[in-house]
Amino acid sequence: MAAFGSVFMPEMAMAQFDGNAWGPAAIVPANSISLHPGAHVLHYASTCFEGLKAFRHEDGTIAIFRMDKNVARMLQSSELLSLPKFEPALLSQMIVDAVRHFAADVPTPPGSMYIRPTHIGTEPAIGKAATPTLTSMLYVLLSPVGDYFAGGSRALRLLLEDNARCAPHMGMIKSGGNYASALQPTMQAKAKHQADQVLFCPHGDVQETGAANFLLIDGNEIITKALDASFLHGVTRDSILTLARDLGMTVSERDLTVDELLERAAKPGTEAALSGTAAVLAPVGTLIHRGTEYKVGSGEPGPTTARLRQALNDIQWGKAEDKHGWLTKI
Ligand code: PMP
Repeated sequence: MAAFGSVFMPEMAMAQFDGNAWGPAAIVPANSISLHPGAHVLHYASTCFEGLKAFRHEDGTIAIFRMDKNVARMLQSSELLSLPKFEPALLSQMIVDAVRHFAADVPTPPGSMYIRPTHIGTEPAIGKAATPTLTSMLYVLLSPVGDYFAGGSRALRLLLEDNARCAPHMGMIKSGGNYASALQPTMQAKAKHQADQVLFCPHGDVQETGAANFLLIDGNEIITKALDASFLHGVTRDSILTLARDLGMTVSERDLTVDELLERAAKPGTEAALSGTAAVLAPVGTLIHRGTEYKVGSGEPGPTTARLRQALNDIQWGKAEDKHGWLTKI
């Protein structure tokens, strides 16, 4: 099977800001855009994006998961990067239009249609190193995906890294630059420690990995960092915490230090997991810190992680009541 996110639908929804106003959104060939090599985005990284999914239900309807939350985050990222503003309704309509256009291609569970809204600064202006782009382009790409964990969910190995993933006040922005910054430490963690991901813990503060949030599950309690500007406010994180509260669990959104994490991980029955649109909720079995390996609980995927993952999938797949109103049916 093709790698996650490497197959695209041949058309996408697209709209352009000309410096004054947004033009009409249209469905265009996905490979039809042309950019000047001096475009602001190619030099000064004026770009942000989103990732969300549409699911096919047994009755044939298609449901987009938590679209409003992803649209709001995209708007916030755009504002914080000084990209042109847009009405949330513009992007929501583009997402719905694109998914509707390719409704027949939305895979059945555990597959889904991954939706990638993207916003780029298009003004050809290399003199604008310290000035925002005047013009921009918004587009919504679609990529049919299978189960990220085809072949069973193995417990992941995380390398705890003392450095930050990105500038401390930029973590809540879903910007391309933040991802580029995390590549070197992640590649080194893979090569030197056979780690799957890096868990960024600057000054001992447990934050997130390169593409997912981190949750510690200790008995009936879930501990995860409280929202601040240093990390991405995951939609999956929010959904899992809501479902955990529904199940009667205690949710503690607060700072977690590396010392406390390692201490709690040593207890039998402790679990840890990564939450994200692609990963859903992936079990973490091993933490590697300053050359020493620590098992999280038994080191194997745990039952609470599996239960929460299933509860989320059940709503996404239309098998449980959507009591929080998370689905947009098209
Ligand atoms: N942190 C980072 C750095 C991510 O890239 C992602 C994936 N978008 C997440 C957290 C999880 O966010 P979400 O649950 O909204 O996909």
